[in-house]
Amino acid sequence: MAIRKILTEPNKFLRKKSLRVENVDENIQKLMDDMLETLYAAPGIGLAAIQIGVDKRIIVIDINRDKDKKSKKNHMFFVNPEIIWKSEEKLTYEEGCLSVPNQFAEINRPKKCHVKHLDYNGDFQELKAEGLLATCIQHEIDHLEGILFIDYLSKLKKAMIIKKLSKQKKENVERIVV
Ligand code: ZN
Repeated sequence: MAIRKILTEPNKFLRKKSLRVENVDENIQKLMDDMLETLYAAPGIGLAAIQIGVDKRIIVIDINRDKDKKSKKNHMFFVNPEIIWKSEEKLTYEEGCLSVPNQFAEINRPKKCHVKHLDYNGDFQELKAEGLLATCIQHEIDHLEGILFIDYLSKLKKAMIIKKLSKQKKENVERIVV
């Protein structure tokens, strides 16, 4: 397993639509192992493959991780996830994203959703999610479509955040005179 570099906005690759996984083979499982290690190291509660530069429809989620560091790890892999039902009822969380560092905003999403997907072994699964898990799944599936949570904000607010992130990126570059 290896910790991979997480891409941050602004980055055109994050806006790419991810491709379906044809076969959950050893290479895909190795990628999932890396995603899990990267998620725990970040630390975060959800990660999509596109965030580590791989445009495949894979996400990993562990919502127990952030709440209580001592709690048992309880991760879930979703390959080719698809939302098949969303509730009318909505829920608001203040969301952040590993690819949008240090920025947070209240986002309103369906409170419950049903999702079908393949698991780590390539077996078909259907899951009924609600609350934090449902929000996290929707946030991660957005990544597979090239959508970030800041896309739900007003144009002005989004532009301000991207400006801040661009500035942060520049500050992180070491300046040398040769
Ligand atoms: Zn994210």
